[in-house]
Amino acid sequence: MNIAVFMDRDGTINEERGYLGDPCGLNILPGVVDAIRLINENRIKAVVITNQSGVARGYFSEEMVEKVHLRLRELLGEKGVYLDGIYYCPHHPEVGPSEYRKKCNCRKPALGMLNLASAELEIDLSRSYVIGDKLTDIEPAYKVGAKGILVLTGYGNDQMKSLYEESKRQPHYIAGDILEAVNWILHDLHLNME
Ligand SMILES: [Mg+2]
Repeated sequence: MNIAVFMDRDGTINEERGYLGDPCGLNILPGVVDAIRLINENRIKAVVITNQSGVARGYFSEEMVEKVHLRLRELLGEKGVYLDGIYYCPHHPEVGPSEYRKKCNCRKPALGMLNLASAELEIDLSRSYVIGDKLTDIEPAYKVGAKGILVLTGYGNDQMKSLYEESKRQPHYIAGDILEAVNWILHDLHLNME
């Protein structure tokens, strides 16, 4: 069974621009290529899981989501790094007129995308890690025994406030960015192997 690092997309690996449906607007954040390289080199699965309710809201189509992901793979490929999987949820429980308006089991903090990736890529979730810039990104980690890491890029800084105000469950680690998060993960894995 494999270990995975699950990464949120917007605000974690690319600049948060609010409902990104255009591949031209995809800007990869500093440190991301090095972070994914470390994941690749350590034979850990690099998996993106992302809520894309812009589809349900009618802002863009699934085809555009796929185009953004193709561009993402291209940009990373040019740097010699890769993702093992990209999973997205196009739904929203309350917004939008379409067939995408439903209470699904994939929209984070639900576990659908983690479970699907686990089945397809043979991932042991309990030994895996989840990185995101929102508390709802890392909440699924706690439910499956994985470790959750909040990054302070994207919405991360805003999320810090509610972390203190609402006595929410604390992340296993809070990192400035994804590279710091992955370095912590490698350290944590090393400790557990000793
Ligand atoms: Mg995000």
